[in-house]
Amino acid sequence: MVRLRFAPSPTGFLHIGGLRTALFSWLFARQNQGSFIFRLEDTDRNRLVEAAESNLLKMLEWAGLDIDEGPGIGGEFGPYRQSERLEIYRDHVDRLLEQGDAYPCFCSEERLEKLKTFQRSEGLTPRYDNHCRKLQKKEVDTKIQSGEKHVIRMKIPENQETFRLNDLVRGTVAIESTQVEDQVILKSDGFPTYHLAVVVDDHLMQISHVVRGEEWLPSFPKHLLLYRYFGWEPPEFIHLPLILNEERAKLSKRHGAVSVEEFRERGYLPQALLNFIALLGWSPGDDREVLSLEEMVDEFRFERVSKSGAVFDREKLNWMNQQYLLKLPEEEYFRMIDDVIQKGDYHDQDPGKIRQAAEILKTRLVTLSDLNQKLGLFFEENPEIKDLQAIEVLKEENSKTVLKEFLQQAENLDQLTSENLGQLVKSVQKSTGIKGRGLWMPLRCAITREVSGPELPAMLDFFGGEKCLHLIRQTLENPSLN
Ligand code: GLU
Repeated sequence: MVRLRFAPSPTGFLHIGGLRTALFSWLFARQNQGSFIFRLEDTDRNRLVEAAESNLLKMLEWAGLDIDEGPGIGGEFGPYRQSERLEIYRDHVDRLLEQGDAYPCFCSEERLEKLKTFQRSEGLTPRYDNHCRKLQKKEVDTKIQSGEKHVIRMKIPENQETFRLNDLVRGTVAIESTQVEDQVILKSDGFPTYHLAVVVDDHLMQISHVVRGEEWLPSFPKHLLLYRYFGWEPPEFIHLPLILNEERAKLSKRHGAVSVEEFRERGYLPQALLNFIALLGWSPGDDREVLSLEEMVDEFRFERVSKSGAVFDREKLNWMNQQYLLKLPEEEYFRMIDDVIQKGDYHDQDPGKIRQAAEILKTRLVTLSDLNQKLGLFFEENPEIKDLQAIEVLKEENSKTVLKEFLQQAENLDQLTSENLGQLVKSVQKSTGIKGRGLWMPLRCAITREVSGPELPAMLDFFGGEKCLHLIRQTLENPSLN
């Protein structure tokens, strides 16, 4: 039975790395007709963010990763919020205590702090010195009876041992038991720590594959030990490589957007973001880069996930988004931009005109939210020329010659249209002797205000001949271009 879970802690927004973990788990679950489970790991009460759970679920839904079991969704292995499973953890901790695999620790914060400071000053790695592991049973009982505040720690075996994990991405990973300390598994507030809760839940929820970030790799000996103490078979493990920024340091907020919410706000398409994220550490084994979700479900293999850090290349994400925008069916595109337009300055313009403008712009957007700013060209009376290259072009003498000649000849026509535009430009070429780029570019810059603005025939259809001629006149009269 293939069962994978996404188990975020509700400490804030869904990070791009979290979405990748969810995606890889989801892909594998769907590929094998298994289940994808959402479990909220909310045992750290100090870092709890109220709206995080609903945000996480909303973002998964936006991305199209549907959940089979989870809070509010159901499933026979719930509840799926760890805070609602405290009794289950308590029972398991009691079992470890009875077996002698765990013990109460009464050390105060101050003692632990002092210990750490001392160990650091000696150049040692700070770790618990097993002080309470040596307490006599009688002493422990008295302390507990008198209600002394305590936590429960799991025992790391005294005899040195090498823990080996067979990770599906990394092969065998080994850690010596000397590197692991007697980990707290139950806090004094009655909440378990991650290490206990994750093992208990992954077992009880019958998780077959645990997919998580490589930052959890050093924790696996504790987890393997807990599986051993409980007499359970551990699941398969997959530790995903870090996501790095362009300087190959860990991706963080300081380097721009890192939450799925931000990418959505900026107008990235969910399919494009998923496709981009899938390639952070995985590849289909050939040079294909644009893959539909269905293709990814078919092709996904843990064996093709890389061990080394994956660089988050924002340029590539932009490129990917453009690929998806180009492929987006017209109706879906209009549906998606509706929200963007409603939030922008041009929402009260004629809907037909907005549609026409949006159609022209479809191939020129990097993200959907670029749309509002680009609509200015279509709906402003006198759109500003911000493109420095366009300003340079329009300042040239030859450009002015072309524009003046174009105006003069256009005035002899009944009407300037996208049909007679080509003819007219040819005739301007004849009389000015200017051709190619020198001929088309000033017209494009005058009418679209950019060197790489939309095609002129499309603009003529949108504006009509009169408005285009008006924009050219305005350009010629613009004092900053003289
Ligand atoms: N709650 C952990 C986190 O948010 C999950 C780690 C795991 O998947 O085991 O990082």
